Amino acid sequence: MWKIGFLEKRKVAEGTKIYSFDKPDDFQFTEGQYIEMELFNVKDPEVSHDSKHFFSIASSSCDETLDFLTRVRESKFKQALDSLVRGDKVGISESEGSFVLEESGLKNSDGEILLIVGGVGISAARAIIRGVECHNEAKYKESLKLLYSNRSVESAAVLDELADIGWLDQSLFFTRRVSRGSLQEVYGDKIDAIRVYEERIDSSHFKRLTNDFDNARFFVVGPPGFVRGMKGVLLDLGVVRDYIFSDSFAGY
Ligand SMILES: Cc1cc2nc3c(=O)[nH]c(=O)nc-3n(C[C@H](O)[C@H](O)[C@H](O)COP(=O)(O)OP(=O)(O)OC[C@H]3O[C@@H](n4cnc5c(N)ncnc54)[C@H](O)[C@@H]3O)c2cc1C
Repeated sequence: MWKIGFLEKRKVAEGTKIYSFDKPDDFQFTEGQYIEMELFNVKDPEVSHDSKHFFSIASSSCDETLDFLTRVRESKFKQALDSLVRGDKVGISESEGSFVLEESGLKNSDGEILLIVGGVGISAARAIIRGVECHNEAKYKESLKLLYSNRSVESAAVLDELADIGWLDQSLFFTRRVSRGSLQEVYGDKIDAIRVYEERIDSSHFKRLTNDFDNARFFVVGPPGFVRGMKGVLLDLGVVRDYIFSDSFAGY
């Protein structure tokens, strides 16, 4: 286990924050992986689950901090996380997980990648996108497209940050309960960099976004219901299981 010090938190959407910690020099991870975090300040934990949670790492390996993005809820864990002050230590496991772009098996730009994200799944997606940006990975900049679905504009995290990433200009933001006007109110002109659909993600979007659908790879991340639903759509479309990579955030 590693002990890392809390640095700061910032709000990135309604009820959603990024928590930043110092990163040990020799801590290794690949963008898209997760850790198990243990908090030492949980009041009267009844079960071990009250003090330990899995989190995807939301920062890239180039970033100086280890970031985690989460919805702040009433659970003992989340309340303890939110009460950390600068310098407090938490424990984290080694990084694990195979939700990483290398798993796609794509060598050059010989296949497109759709990163299909539901809500809080943006934590892992943020790390992946920042990783592609900072490692300047041309093959992924050309082939990766993001579909980011949220219940509302208020709950959509880091959309402004994504709008700053030029090569993501094919990306799509989906929501059913918001107009382009209200997005503009929150994010200003930045939102022009992102295409907004007031509809649910469905099979037509996958086909429209890919030039070579049969050779595309699909990375799906978010709450279990979202991941199940998206995988179902992809399998119905005839996508082979080996081309679907997913990370399901149990607990949502
Ligand atoms: C690989 C992985 C990566 C994750 N990454 C993130 C992340 O980046 N950001 C994020 O916010 N969350 C992530 N999660 C989910 C996170 O671990 C918490 O479960 C979630 O944030 C809810 O915590 P809570 O304290 O709000 O609710 P809790 O009180 O912990 O849980 C709410 C409900 O879900 C149930 N539950 C909780 N955990 C599990 C579980 N593991 N299996 C089955 N049921 C469960 C509880 O029994 C309860 O009914 C990830 C989970 C996994 C497995």
